[in-house]
Amino acid sequence: MLSKYIIRLDDACPTMNRDNWKRIELLLNKYKVMPIVAVVPNNKDEKLIVDDINNNFWNDVKKWQNKNWEIALHGFEHKYVTKHKSIVPINDYSEFAGVSLEKQREKIREGMKIFQEHNIFCRVWIAPAHSFDKNTIKALREEANINIISDGIAWSPYYEHDMYWIPQQLWKPREMPFGTWTICYHPDEMKDKDFEILEDFLEKNSKKITSIDELTLNKKPKSLLEKSFEKIYWKLLEKKRQKDKKAS
Ligand SMILES: [Zn+2]
Repeated sequence: MLSKYIIRLDDACPTMNRDNWKRIELLLNKYKVMPIVAVVPNNKDEKLIVDDINNNFWNDVKKWQNKNWEIALHGFEHKYVTKHKSIVPINDYSEFAGVSLEKQREKIREGMKIFQEHNIFCRVWIAPAHSFDKNTIKALREEANINIISDGIAWSPYYEHDMYWIPQQLWKPREMPFGTWTICYHPDEMKDKDFEILEDFLEKNSKKITSIDELTLNKKPKSLLEKSFEKIYWKLLEKKRQKDKKAS
């Protein structure tokens, strides 16, 4: 089995860094990459206010969708309101995890309403800060008919909690011997060097870049080996965090 890569772009909203997003769009066009884009329906996160409001934003999202870019629901306001354990234990702050089912349903309903108003179709969930719980999954099913999550640790897509999971394991390009790897970018924060490294990677691996459309999703649970891999992954991440903490 050869390795495959999916590119994911996080935090699209009307106040995103327009130059950087334009730059990555041109780069992905050049290599015919169809990324997953995490779109915040109603941003209230000050960190995502980089440029003034782009009144044409939703037209741009529609244009992305028309070129088969996968538009994902990225929370509702991207504002962290709880400190709670997530199914994917990367961060301990959340817009969703620990919030009541009723409230979560409302956020997802409102988010999807905004997408629908702009004719955006959506079947993928990306939680802000990777943080959500079983009630989020229930709400996604009931309010949005979403059945795909871009998150989790494994080396191939799997089925869990009544959802298809496309794992997201990387934050910069890295050549892997096998498996399906999602590389997550935050274009707002990208520097020249990041664009160069990405272009190099796309140049070398253009045949290995895939999209959700091209994956075969089946109800295969995570294998035992992948479960062990996941455990080790979280341990290593924790270790790295401790080290970074000491260094800073
Ligand atoms: Zn985000």
